[in-house]
Amino acid sequence: MKINFSDPLITNDEIEMVNQILKNSWVKGGEAVKAFEQCFKDYLGVKYAIAVNNGTSGLHLLIKALGIKEGDEVITTPFSFVASTNCILFERGKPVFVDIDANTFNIDVSKIEDKITEKTKAILPVDVFGQPLDMPEIRRIAQKHDLKVIEDSCEAIGSEYKGIKTGTLGDGAVFSFYLNKQITTGEGGMIVTNDENIAKLCSCLRSQGRPMNESWLLHETLGYNYRLSDMQAALGISQMNRIEKIIQSRQLVADLYRKKLSNIEGVTQPFVHEDVTKMSWFIYVILLDEDVNRNMVLEYLLAEGIECKPYFMPIHLQPYIVEQFKTKAEDFPVASSVGRRSLALPFNLRITEEEIDIVVKKLAAAIAKVKECGANHHE
Ligand SMILES: *Cc1c(COP(=O)(O)O)cnc(C)c1O
Repeated sequence: MKINFSDPLITNDEIEMVNQILKNSWVKGGEAVKAFEQCFKDYLGVKYAIAVNNGTSGLHLLIKALGIKEGDEVITTPFSFVASTNCILFERGKPVFVDIDANTFNIDVSKIEDKITEKTKAILPVDVFGQPLDMPEIRRIAQKHDLKVIEDSCEAIGSEYKGIKTGTLGDGAVFSFYLNKQITTGEGGMIVTNDENIAKLCSCLRSQGRPMNESWLLHETLGYNYRLSDMQAALGISQMNRIEKIIQSRQLVADLYRKKLSNIEGVTQPFVHEDVTKMSWFIYVILLDEDVNRNMVLEYLLAEGIECKPYFMPIHLQPYIVEQFKTKAEDFPVASSVGRRSLALPFNLRITEEEIDIVVKKLAAAIAKVKECGANHHE
C-alpha cells in the first residue's frame, strides 16, 4: 500500500487544452500565457500579472524590480521554503529573520518593527501553508518606515484575510504552480502587482531584458529567460477556470482530517486565525507533542507506505545559512520548535476517506509506539 503525499489532479479538460495548443501551433505566440495572466488579473482584481517559469524566478524578479542590492536588509521569516530567502541572497541582500507566531506559523508581525534599521529596504512575509497574512498591518508598518513589501503567496492562492485576497496588498506578490501547489503547470509562477513600473521591469527582465512590446533583438538591460510556455499556461488556464472547486475540495480533505484526528493524543491540529475569511489549504500540517519523537513517527509512517514530510526544516538551520550567518536554533525558538515537531500528512485531491482513515490509524499507532520506545529508553 502507498498513500502519496501530493498527487496533482490533471483532468481531461486540461489535457484537451494542451492538445489544442499543440494542434493549433499556438505554441510560440504567447497567447495562452497572456490569457493565463488575464485569469489572475480577473481573479485577484490586480492591474498586472506576469507569468514566469517558477515561483523562485518570480521572487527574484521582484527583488530586482524593487532595486534591492548588496547590503540591503530584507525582513523575512525563517519558517518557509528556502526560495523566499534565496531570492534576497541572489542579489546579495541580507535576510533579517523574525520569529514566527506559534499558532499561525506566519511571521510574528508584532516583532517586525524591532528589526527595522537604516538598511532595511523591504519586508518579505510568506503565507505559510495557505494561512493568509495580516497584510493590512504589514502594510501599515511598511508605510510608516517607507519600506517595500513582497508577499510570497506561493502556497496560498485564493486565501483571504478579512476578505482581502493574498497577493493583492503588497508592492508585488508571487504564486507558484509547482506540482504540489493548489494549481500546477508542472513548473510555473505568477507575479502580480498594481504598480506599472514594477510590472514593466519584471516583464522586461523575464525575457532577456527586452523592453515590453519592443523589437525581439533589442536588449535594454541584462535580463533572464524566466518565461512560461503556452503549453504550461494552457494547463494553468484550465485549473483557474475551476479554482473555487479546487479550493472547496481541498477544504473537504482538511475537514475530514480535522474530524478524524480529533481524538488522537499527542497531536495539535492546524490553527486557522479567526480573521481568515477563506483558507486555501496547501498542506495539512500537525504538531506532535514535545515528548513524541517526530522523526521516529515519520520513519514508521514511511515504512507503512504513508508518505509524510517534515515541513519545514527552518531556513535558519539550513547548512549554507548557518555557515554564512552563524544562526542557531535558540535565535528563533518558535520556528525551531515547530520545525522539530511538525508533520505534513498526505494531502491531495485523489485521497479517499478510507485512505484518510488509514493515515489517522497508522499515525495513532506510530505515536503510541514511539512513546513506548521513549518510555523504555528512560528506564
Ligand atoms: C513553492 C514555493 C516557492 C517557490 O516556488 P517554485 O515554483 O518551486 O520555484 C517559494 N516560496 C514558497 C513559500 C513556496 O512554497
